[in-house]
Amino acid sequence: MRVTDLYQGSKPVLSLEFFPPRNEKADKEFDGLIDKLSTLNPDYMSVTFGAGGSTRDGSYQTVKKIMVDKHQPTVAYIAGYGLGPEEVTAVLDKYKDLGVETIFVIRGDKPKDDQFTPHPDSFSYASEMIAFIRKHYDFTLGCAGYPEGHIEAKSLEEDINFLKNKVDHGAEYIVAQYFYDNDYFFNYVKKCRAIGIDVPIIPGIMPVYSVKMTRMLSKVCGSRITDALQKRLDAVDADDANSVVQVGIDFAVEQCRGLLKEKVPGLHFYTMDRSESTMAIVQRLGQEKLLSCS
Ligand SMILES: Cc1cc2nc3c(=O)[nH]c(=O)nc-3n(C[C@H](O)[C@H](O)[C@H](O)COP(=O)(O)OP(=O)(O)OC[C@H]3O[C@@H](n4cnc5c(N)ncnc54)[C@H](O)[C@@H]3O)c2cc1C
Repeated sequence: MRVTDLYQGSKPVLSLEFFPPRNEKADKEFDGLIDKLSTLNPDYMSVTFGAGGSTRDGSYQTVKKIMVDKHQPTVAYIAGYGLGPEEVTAVLDKYKDLGVETIFVIRGDKPKDDQFTPHPDSFSYASEMIAFIRKHYDFTLGCAGYPEGHIEAKSLEEDINFLKNKVDHGAEYIVAQYFYDNDYFFNYVKKCRAIGIDVPIIPGIMPVYSVKMTRMLSKVCGSRITDALQKRLDAVDADDANSVVQVGIDFAVEQCRGLLKEKVPGLHFYTMDRSESTMAIVQRLGQEKLLSCS
């Protein structure tokens, strides 16, 4: 499955992102998670990749499970941080043999493990890896974009110029980091279009799963917790898990409505390997006839 074919259609594309199960319990529950979310009829699922190759085997097994066992169109990620060209090649050859046709290419970040030594010829930026893959493979390639600017970037404008570089080197679609104000996304798309980035840009949706997780992720990902979201969270007890999840669902539904109204090419859900929020949000959008799902 080539993701770019899906984005050429007229209906919004629904994609769901997973990470490889991190322990035995998660592994046991993973089949059920995929089965449950498959009932939403997503257009494709995608599987993350731990920088430095930390989930190399787990990512492969997860892609295989979703694509081969569960018959879901699947995108495999590769995060190049610390990997040399021959290691990238080894990973990609396995995906090619499996029948994967779309690869999402990211740089990744330095693993927390102090012992990790990057390969001396590892790629410095995602754009370099995209150029390398484009030269040697026939995959459809995607890359990441940051509506609020990447945390290391000097400015949003500079970051968008580097995004253009990724597209110029062969990225054919962009999945955006999540955000809690649709205007960040709309302004970002405008700025991208203004400098000639003309590939589909897909908004990423991260429902609030817990206050603690949202705060932690906000620091790591640079996605601001807006006043509007904070106000909604302040209205419930942060320790009341169900109420917090419900706020996250309601907030995301409103965000998605606004995005779909502006005819975004699709919605990409960061499921965090949980089903409840994504199920509820997508089902509600389906009931409102904004998304075609089960
Ligand atoms: C949709 C999505 C999925 C993700 N999936 C994963 C995953 O599976 N695994 C994982 O480890 N991480 C993942 N990440 C996180 C990502 O790896 C980090 O955000 C990482 O810090 C940047 O990756 P990138 O590919 O955007 O990097 P790049 O595009 O290389 O950019 C990194 C930084 O360098 C700057 N830059 C780019 N080119 C140059 C240049 N030529 N000179 C100077 N500066 C430059 C950019 O402005 C930016 O600040 C994901 C992020 C998103 C949005």
